[in-house]
Amino acid sequence: MSVIDRRTALRGLAASLAPWPVPAAFAQPAEPDVAIVGAGSAGIAAARELARLGRSVVVLEGMGRIGGRAFTESRSFGAPFDHGCAWLHKADQNPYRDLARGYGFDLAEHDYALDRVHVGPRRAGEAEVAALHAKELEMSDAIAAAAARIDGPASRFVDMGGPWADTAASYLGAMDFAVDLDELSTADYAAGDDLEPNMLCRQGFGAIVARYGAGLPVRLHTPVTRIDHGGAGVRLTTPSGVLRAKSVIVTVSTGVLAADAIRFDPPLPDWKVQAFHDLPMGLLMKIPLLIRTERFGVAPFTDLFLERAGVRDIYFLAFPFDLPLMIGFIGGDFAWEMTAAGQEAALDYAKGALGELFGAAATAQVKGGLMTGWGANRWTKGAYSAATPGKYAARAALAVPVAEKIFFAGEALGGPLVQTCAGAFNAGQAAARAAHAALPA
Ligand SMILES: Cc1cc2nc3c(=O)[nH]c(=O)nc-3n(C[C@H](O)[C@H](O)[C@H](O)COP(=O)(O)OP(=O)(O)OC[C@H]3O[C@@H](n4cnc5c(N)ncnc54)[C@H](O)[C@@H]3O)c2cc1C
Repeated sequence: MSVIDRRTALRGLAASLAPWPVPAAFAQPAEPDVAIVGAGSAGIAAARELARLGRSVVVLEGMGRIGGRAFTESRSFGAPFDHGCAWLHKADQNPYRDLARGYGFDLAEHDYALDRVHVGPRRAGEAEVAALHAKELEMSDAIAAAAARIDGPASRFVDMGGPWADTAASYLGAMDFAVDLDELSTADYAAGDDLEPNMLCRQGFGAIVARYGAGLPVRLHTPVTRIDHGGAGVRLTTPSGVLRAKSVIVTVSTGVLAADAIRFDPPLPDWKVQAFHDLPMGLLMKIPLLIRTERFGVAPFTDLFLERAGVRDIYFLAFPFDLPLMIGFIGGDFAWEMTAAGQEAALDYAKGALGELFGAAATAQVKGGLMTGWGANRWTKGAYSAATPGKYAARAALAVPVAEKIFFAGEALGGPLVQTCAGAFNAGQAAARAAHAALPA
């Protein structure tokens, strides 16, 4: 999701786009030029780009909605809540910013500032917060410096001494890359861009992506279980039949690919399959709490970070857009543990944290909440990809097409915006252009 720590390596990416009206329904060809597996950010961007290039497409989606990990719903809290992506990272280069503006959606700038840091019930003073920031920068620099020499676990190259090391480590690793530092590849870390400036959207990031995908030829509830690519073209098996196309763009997460949810025949080369396994999914979990009337003296959009013993830190985004929500975030191993423990345990944990921040009476202000379930979701199997330390090159291997007719896209191939929704968009567009170029004119 974050933040201040990623390496700055400005590279021109998506040029800003003209606002895009909701299109008339595209045709649903029986045998398209290109089949796209997955209607998330990458799949939608790929379909749009191919249509622009004059190619016919069909998108096959396992879930009953489009958007994938970009998902806004208003039923739980009576207001838009993003289960997945929320921040438009690198907003000045993010294609979704201008799309959102074109749709008349409201955007607010929000860069993480760690406005309030608590150590258990005690609020850290200004000097302590400055010391925390200094520790983060020190660690970030150490990881980046190590990356120039070796791709290894970030934990090996940081100094865990001093009072703020655990907090800085969890902010850098679990809360940002969705893995703890021992599972964070130095090279992956260094390749990620600085993500500022960041924006939030009142109507939800998922709502922007859904609007962008509206009208595309998507078949919902249509999981692809097999891709045959022997002979001419490709044949995609789904419960509703077989779709033939000239080529295919696969945008499902590396977690889904590693789980063998899609069988390839002939089998993919070993180096390709290895790449799926070398890019396992990290986990970021949100635990939003619906608050009655109290605002605890905290202004909308405040960042709160609570350090708890045993690498069980939690970050809260307080009352975004003045909504009655304290949105908790946990990441890395702790989030996987919480996935196993279940929603009740997650809510207990977040309420306990609220009590530590604002006193025990604060918990009586909680009238609802939920736990986002990406870790147990069969269509994602985690939040986003994190290269295994030493295996950063797997991202390049994942990007290579097979037989000039199986192309890959998704956040795992997001380049400097890896792991993000805009990175997925860029990867989708790139795969679309590659698929287009490989087809006869
Ligand atoms: C909790 C959380 C917070 C995040 N916060 C941010 C943020 O603030 N900002 C940001 O930019 N990014 C954030 N991200 C990351 C961002 O959401 C993702 O990088 C992006 O949405 C991924 O898009 P994608 O197209 O690569 O994959 P997906 O969205 O996963 O799309 C792939 C699609 O394939 C479908 N699928 C899977 N298997 C099959 C199959 N066999 N057949 C057919 N379809 C299949 C899936 O259902 C899915 O719809 C966050 C993610 C999470 C989980």
